[in-house]
Amino acid sequence: MHPHGEKILLSEQEIKTRVAQLGRVISEDYKGKELLVIGILKGAIIFLTDLVRSINNPIYFDFMSVSSYGDSASTSGEVRILKDLDKSIEDRHVLIVEDIIDTGLTLDYLTHVLSSRGPASLKICTLLDKPSRRVTPVYVHYRGFSISNDFVVGYGLDYNERYRNLPYIMALRPKIYGGGS
Ligand code: 5GP
Repeated sequence: MHPHGEKILLSEQEIKTRVAQLGRVISEDYKGKELLVIGILKGAIIFLTDLVRSINNPIYFDFMSVSSYGDSASTSGEVRILKDLDKSIEDRHVLIVEDIIDTGLTLDYLTHVLSSRGPASLKICTLLDKPSRRVTPVYVHYRGFSISNDFVVGYGLDYNERYRNLPYIMALRPKIYGGGS
């Protein structure tokens, strides 16, 4: 494990198995339909690229970038769109792919914004969920894993842009994000 890790929460194999399961369920649910997958940059990118390879339907991608955290490990509660979608989602079957839901503020905001643009359907798929931290209720249609309240990195998730390329998900040592060395 990386020396900044407290413990490995999800191994490469566990993630792989679960992502393939999610892909099978999504393929079945959207059978005969074309899917527009919206990845939330940058954290969801690795999850998204694995997930779509387990989905059989015709798929289009688009990406959005939102900021709610800056460089800190705690939420400011404020959501801003840094990069909007390239194309209209009107009458499309939209699946938002997110890395982790924490307070729910980001997805609450995004679902309001996107549902006002007239999609045929709008669902949420998240790799990780921290239900105990929720401030705003969010209906999650597809969830990889529920986890406890650790700050996690790896498999796309970062702390100050680091650790995204780890193939597993680990809890970061509190002294790393608490300002210690
Ligand atoms: P929410 O708006 O639900 O509070 O936050 C969602 C965003 O917070 C995620 O997309 C992610 O960027 C960030 N986040 C929340 N918890 C964690 C965590 O444990 N690790 C990392 N790396 N990011 C997190």
